[in-house]
Amino acid sequence: MIPAVFVEDIRRMSVENSLASSYLRCTQCKKQLPDSMNCEIHGANNGKKVYGAQIIFADPCHKLEVAVWEDCLKAMCQEFGVDDIDDESALPNLLVALRAQELCIRASFGINKAGTSMYLDVFDVSPQVNDAGAQAIFKHLANDTFVGAPGIVPACCKRFASNSLGQTVVKVDELEHVVDSIHLVCKTTDKPKMEALPAIDGINVKPSAECMKCNATCVLQTAGAPDSVQDFMTTLKNSFVAILSSSIDSNGALQVAHHRTIPEAEAQIFTKSNKYQAEQFVMHMKIPRSEKMSKKRRTVIEELCLSQRTPKRLKIANTLDGDAL
Ligand SMILES: [Zn+2]
Ligand SMILES: [Zn+2]
Ligand SMILES: [Zn+2]
Repeated sequence: MIPAVFVEDIRRMSVENSLASSYLRCTQCKKQLPDSMNCEIHGANNGKKVYGAQIIFADPCHKLEVAVWEDCLKAMCQEFGVDDIDDESALPNLLVALRAQELCIRASFGINKAGTSMYLDVFDVSPQVNDAGAQAIFKHLANDTFVGAPGIVPACCKRFASNSLGQTVVKVDELEHVVDSIHLVCKTTDKPKMEALPAIDGINVKPSAECMKCNATCVLQTAGAPDSVQDFMTTLKNSFVAILSSSIDSNGALQVAHHRTIPEAEAQIFTKSNKYQAEQFVMHMKIPRSEKMSKKRRTVIEELCLSQRTPKRLKIANTLDGDAL
């Protein structure tokens, strides 16, 4: 189970643009059929419909592109309010619904039948936070789950900076961690101010907000065409919002790439969770890990990945001290 994950992007699998969330494959060789319904090897074929999408997930350290198949994709659509999976707009709508949504994904790691490569199979995606098990597991994020590009980090506004290379970083004393964006929960303290941007025929929306981690006042900012920032313009005073911010400008305003208003009833648990995660991440950055230690850890992970195991559905249970099993 991997907590504190965001969806960065969703891409269709269909090579030819027939139906976005599914494609037809040859019933014999499983290769994707072109619109002509002729398999290169097996000729005319009625095909079998396969639902799937490439989803790019981002955890606090990295990004990872994973194929998500029928059951999981259908369940995601249902969970996040996308009614018709066969509609052309299903995947784009799903992305909008998921973009600033903190998720918990259940995945199994394993090795393919041929023994030639590793796989990561996502079988469940659900909104996170209220799950005590997910929170407990966050402690163990010191083991980076994903590999590759920078990810999305829970952090307080004060930890957010640009380094000398112009990269967006989370800063803890002298330490820097390059990020794609930070995840922050704040509460709006007044109605957004608006400025017209004649050059791009758009508007700049600037609500003031209180960072729920450090209680400092911070200025949020989002600019764009009126319809793209409309939702932000109408945010009421004293609303709780989860934001993903990918940069901070020279005046200290946080550029909001995506946001989501948190329902009042969930605000407290979200705030608590974000605070806890931000603290854990600071610890993750501070704890010096010796070469020996990380080597040992790596060996353990590699051995785990190489051992043949049938993927099982993980069950999360709490022990007395609140840790997850
Ligand atoms: Zn074929
Ligand atoms: Zn890391
Ligand atoms: Zn803060």
